[in-house]
Amino acid sequence: MNQVALYLNLAAARVKADGDLRYLMGPGAPKISGGGNLQETQILFVRDALWVANNDDADTVLQKAILEKLLIGTPEALVEHVEACQTRVFKRMKLGTKEIFVPPGSPAEILLAELAGLDDAGGKRDLAYPLALGALPVAGKKPVGYALQPPGTGTAPAVSGIVFVTGNYEGTVGSGDNEHAEQKLLAALSRVPDSVRGTLALYGCKRQCSVCKSVFDKAIPKVASSYRYLNCRAHDDPAIENYQAQAHPSGIKALDVDRYFPA
Ligand SMILES: [Zn+2]
Repeated sequence: MNQVALYLNLAAARVKADGDLRYLMGPGAPKISGGGNLQETQILFVRDALWVANNDDADTVLQKAILEKLLIGTPEALVEHVEACQTRVFKRMKLGTKEIFVPPGSPAEILLAELAGLDDAGGKRDLAYPLALGALPVAGKKPVGYALQPPGTGTAPAVSGIVFVTGNYEGTVGSGDNEHAEQKLLAALSRVPDSVRGTLALYGCKRQCSVCKSVFDKAIPKVASSYRYLNCRAHDDPAIENYQAQAHPSGIKALDVDRYFPA
């Protein structure tokens, strides 16, 4: 499921670079602009909802616009879309100091792409683009936005559909300005009623940085006491060097856990 986070991250990168949806629809695709630093996208499943947050809220705004354009408004529709696209459209590789997007290259990759391109009857289908836009699942509703209002005040975020979480969380004193995606999700989680219980799965594109890890180490016991659990699965593909060797900038804001999850 971390593929959903990775897809949203890379889709935003492609659209930011292209200025339109050509990665899905080819020449003449609808134009979309925006996007931020594209550092990290994280998703959290909360009951029937799929929450999305980024380190940079500008990425979140762009991802929401992309899904609106694609008429994807439910987690099921998004997962189906990502599964249809992931092996064919996106590949990230390191070239010197830059990351670039490339089509399948090796025989194994081409074979995988060909397998992905067989229909149920074993016939071939066009792999140039995953699905015609008209064939994409139509959700019939739009993803919603949820703005964090620190410190854990304001209305509760939706627990169904796709929810894009933006805004600032209250940090501990002297902890800097950068606000990371998973801590935004954690702050939003503090607004969900205790009646929402069960396993909550968190996925992202990178390993947690040390600041986020310490925040989660502190928060999870409090969350678990309400029978909620968090399961962090970072993207661990060693072939993607950037995910392993990501330098953590100083000044990352640490969520004030005691304020959001009081004893
Ligand atoms: Zn972090």
